[in-house]
Amino acid sequence: MGTTGNRIALVVGGSRGIGRAIALKLAASGFDIWLTYKGNHEAAASTRAEIEATGRVCETIPFDVASFAETEAALLPRLENATPDVMVYNSGIARDNLLMWMSPEEWHSVVSTNLDGFFNVTRQIVFAMLKAKRGRIVVISSTSGQVGQAGQVNYSASKAGLIGAAKALAREVGKKNILVNVVAPGFIETEMTAEIPAEQVLPLIPLNRVGRSEEVASLVDFLCTEPNMYIHGQVIGVNGGLAM
Ligand code: NDP
Repeated sequence: MGTTGNRIALVVGGSRGIGRAIALKLAASGFDIWLTYKGNHEAAASTRAEIEATGRVCETIPFDVASFAETEAALLPRLENATPDVMVYNSGIARDNLLMWMSPEEWHSVVSTNLDGFFNVTRQIVFAMLKAKRGRIVVISSTSGQVGQAGQVNYSASKAGLIGAAKALAREVGKKNILVNVVAPGFIETEMTAEIPAEQVLPLIPLNRVGRSEEVASLVDFLCTEPNMYIHGQVIGVNGGLAM
């Protein structure tokens, strides 16, 4: 809870795409938003303006999740005055290539943003949540982390790693009333997937369409707000039937 008395949701990677839809949905559910991003100030300012128009507070916080030092410097001072009730770890990148051509940079940039980033952020937040004896953590993984995807050995490894990390964390913090779950989207229309040709993916999707960010955000919102909640340590797909 923050100085306004409202609950706070920390949305990591909330400036664009799925994260933006999650931030807007949680704001509509009454949360003030700590919205983090890496460097797209314009997108972050636009999302903040949209949230503020609904009457909620939104703080934009730029830092690189791949850096422990930057993450700590950005979050620790804020945690002295407030504890987020909810944390959604959504930031992520893809650098696709077949393993035989993959550069060390393509491997490390993806793993450090998607997986190290989860550690770097959660390491700051979880202590405050443990002290508060409440919290909801939602980690955005991917179908690629559940089933593997050719051309995405780096991305699939990072997203599968998130599933393992979230399940282990769920075992550590469940007793303190901190619920940890994973959402695994399939193909969702965002900048990340803009270059994937629809005709290539549609035959794989039983619903015969790609998903919308709002469809991921609805599930995240449910996991963060539902009072009757016995869902913990689970991986829930939002994928139109792509993986089942
Ligand atoms: P976008 O590329 O649209 O947005 C990514 C967000 O993460 C932005 O807010 C971006 O900030 C932030 N970000 C990226 N790198 C860093 C970093 N090093 N430090 C801090 N913030 C960072 O992605 P999507 O909305 O498509 O995807 C969101 C999540 O959902 C990702 O984890 C992705 O892997 C996952 N996902 C997406 C799917 C899809 O089909 N789109 C499918 C399955 C999973 P900035 O704006 O400053 O760059």
